[in-house]
Formats: sequence, structure tokens, C-alpha cells
Amino acid sequence: MAEKAGGQIKETVGIENMISILKTTGEQLASNLKLHMQDYDIDLFEHRRVEKIEIKGKNKVVLVNGGETYISPQVIIATGASWRKLNVPGESDYIGKGVAFCPHCDGPFYKGKHVAVIGGGNSGIEAAIDLAGICYKVTVFEFLDDLKADQVLQEKVKTLSNVEIHKSSQTLEITGNNEKVNGIRIKNRNTEEERVVDLDGVFVQIGLVPNSSIFKDIVNTNRFGEIETDNHCRTNQPGIYAAGDVTTVPYKQIVISMGEGAKAALAAFEDRTRGDI
Ligand SMILES: Cc1cc2nc3c(=O)[nH]c(=O)nc-3n(C[C@H](O)[C@H](O)[C@H](O)COP(=O)(O)OP(=O)(O)OC[C@H]3O[C@@H](n4cnc5c(N)ncnc54)[C@H](O)[C@@H]3O)c2cc1C
Repeated sequence: MAEKAGGQIKETVGIENMISILKTTGEQLASNLKLHMQDYDIDLFEHRRVEKIEIKGKNKVVLVNGGETYISPQVIIATGASWRKLNVPGESDYIGKGVAFCPHCDGPFYKGKHVAVIGGGNSGIEAAIDLAGICYKVTVFEFLDDLKADQVLQEKVKTLSNVEIHKSSQTLEITGNNEKVNGIRIKNRNTEEERVVDLDGVFVQIGLVPNSSIFKDIVNTNRFGEIETDNHCRTNQPGIYAAGDVTTVPYKQIVISMGEGAKAALAAFEDRTRGDI
């Protein structure tokens, strides 16, 4: 069951680290995954958002938006992660109208324009480098006094004449004309000086958050919100397993998530055949 089958890979243009595949795209990989699944007797329910899981004796009741319920003794949670938001005024009003999270998906809409990238970590600096090839100007705002991106990315971005970097910069507001973004209000955290920068788009690149909030009452999560699993992908709740980016597994990557998904399925099978669940 998935809200949007394919997940984060749909936001990826080039994938070059899938074992045995030299190069592919997110769209292609998502489509291959679906084809592979359809080759088995597996029901796929798309466009369903799980809102809650309730425990009823040995069964788990999965409640879905729109009122459907699914009942099973075992559930594997693989809800992944979503872009972290700034939570400043204007951000949610202008999503899709100048506020964007995926440079590969939305970058081309800003051809020849001035955009901001919020965040100077690896994803922010990678985004700035990519957008510099499309946009007239890219301005990076980093909250901390230093960039956190790898040195090699920092060296690369320094060579780009249309990228400007401002550190110690707090985003206070994304402004717009009711139809689309027209600027950003920034505070210099050292001088407390506030200013508005006119621009056409804002790419928020401040990390990802695990999609676990709806499960927090039934399974243990750590301080980052990741679901705690053992090395068989079991959670603390018998019959509930978790896999991929939503969990504490280190290194959030496609090949890792696929492996973890397989591991969770094998653990569920083993627990069932042993009669533990
Ligand atoms: C821009 C970008 C580029 C990347 N590039 C690479 C790369 O080149 N190589 C690499 O290895 N990794 C890359 N990654 C990381 C990789 O995409 C993830 O590690 C991987 O997709 C995680 O898989 P997942 O199945 O755990 O979660 P996700 O891909 O996040 O999938 C979660 C799924 O759960 C669904 N879902 C969420 N909540 C609910 C709900 N309440 N009810 C129902 N369904 C729900 C979502 O719709 C989605 O289908 C990239 C990530 C991004 C964002």
C-alpha cells in the first residue's frame, strides 16, 4: 500500500550506485520495480495514505484515508522520509509557486531566474551547483557560521561565478505577491540585520525527516524520529517490522532500503512459520 508508489526515487534523475546497473533514472527504476512486483501475486493499493495503525489482539488494523481498513497479523512499515520544512511564514503558501524541495524535478522551471538555496550541507551545495547551470543566479543561505558540505563540493561551488554564499543567515519569511514567490527575508545572525532579497524561487535543502509520526504511539522511535529496529527489522511491537529510510538503519540509499525491505519480509515469514506471531 502506498501513497505514491516509487517514493523518493521518483525525485532522482540519475542513479549511478545501483549494484549491477551502470546508470538509470528514478522513473525507470520505479517502473521496473512495479513491473517486477506485478509478476507475482501481489496486490498493490496506490493513492492510499495510512493514517494510523491500531493493535487489536494479535491483529494490526491499518486505517487509511477515505475510511478503508486493512487487517493483518503482520505489517512492514516502509514509509521513507520527506523533505524537512523551514516552517517560516510563506513557505507552505507558496509550495509549487516558487517554493521547491527537489532541484532535479523543479530546477528547469527556474531557467534564467534568480533562486535561493536554503542550507549549506551536501544536498544544499549539490543543489546550488546543479542550479547554477540552469539559473541566472543562485544565492545560498546557511544558518550556521560554516558550510557543512564536503570539501570537494565547497571547492567546486567556489568556482561558479553565478553562486553567492551567505553564512550565519536565518530565513525569517518567504514573501510573495499572492500568486508566486518574489523574495525572502533573511536575518544575519551575527549583526541581527534583516534584509529582503528579491528572487523568483526558493529551494529548501535542510535535510529529510522520517515519515514516522503516525506510528510513534505504537513503536519506539529515536530522537530523530527514526523507527528503532533490531538487525532483523523487527520493531519493539511483535508483528510490526520496519525497513528503509524511516528506520535507524545507517546510510539512507536505494540499495540499502531494498535490502532492508527483503530482510523485513524474511523476518516476517520466519516469525509466521515458527508460529511466533
Ligand atoms: C533527490 C534525491 C536523490 C537521491 N539519489 C539517490 C541515489 O542516486 N542513489 C541512492 O542510492 N539513493 C538516493 N537517494 C535516496 C533514496 O532515494 C532513498 O534512500 C530511498 O528511496 C529510500 O527508500 P524507502 O523505500 O525507504 O523510502 P521512500 O523512497 O521515501 O518511499 C516511501 C514510500 O512510502 C509512501 N508513504 C509515506 N507515508 C505513507 C503513508 N502514511 N501511507 C502510505 N504510504 C506512505 C511514500 O508515498 C513512498 O511511496 C536520493 C534521495 C533523494 C530525495
